[in-house]
Amino acid sequence: MTLIENVDAVLKQVSLTEKHLASKENHPTTIVGVTKYVDANKARELVLAGITDIGENRVELFLDKYEQLADLSVTWHLIGTLQRRKVKDVINLVDYFHALDSVKLAQEIDKRATHRIKCFLQVNISGESSKHGLSLDELNQVLPEFSRFTNIEIVGLMTMMPLGATEVELADFFDQVKALQKSIANQKLPNIPCTELSMGMSQDYQQAIKHGATFVRIGSKFFK
Ligand SMILES: *Cc1c(COP(=O)(O)O)cnc(C)c1O
Repeated sequence: MTLIENVDAVLKQVSLTEKHLASKENHPTTIVGVTKYVDANKARELVLAGITDIGENRVELFLDKYEQLADLSVTWHLIGTLQRRKVKDVINLVDYFHALDSVKLAQEIDKRATHRIKCFLQVNISGESSKHGLSLDELNQVLPEFSRFTNIEIVGLMTMMPLGATEVELADFFDQVKALQKSIANQKLPNIPCTELSMGMSQDYQQAIKHGATFVRIGSKFFK
């Protein structure tokens, strides 16, 4: 399949999945094209095919794509772990940062940002030690601390699903993250609207959308 065909297939699947969801009437899914597998020329093809939200998981790769696609109108997502010492190199170029996982990192972002940065809090829902993100207990404890950073807007929660989870387990994890997002939104804390959910990748984006995802991050489905 060509890239254009892959894009068409994903767009069709997303709109079919959204069709019967009342929650989607005023809140369509944002499809973030993850370009970590490909060079800037291929990423350019993806943007020209209509995927104008682009995500990279590493700072170096992000900066490379950002420079090379500077002539295009792109919404930029940094979706992977960010070391504190690299915050200053990248944070003001990012439209959405998906992997905020500590108060210390938030402190550094707040200090270096020259405008308000939209961030997702990353949640480790499966409790696997190999996964980044705040556990549910940690999140409940530290959540109010994120309120004081005026250069950070916590737009929602982000999560990665464990590899090899069954469909039933996935559904349960997705529902847990959705419930958590709603409960945080209901607290109406300053700087924490938390109306969005970044979850679902190539293997499970349809299921994620059914369970409330508003951002899906798709890489291999486009490029393989
Ligand atoms: C690579 C990556 C994705 C995309 O994964 P695919 O399975 O290739 O769609 C999504 N989110 C993050 C954080 C990633 O690193």
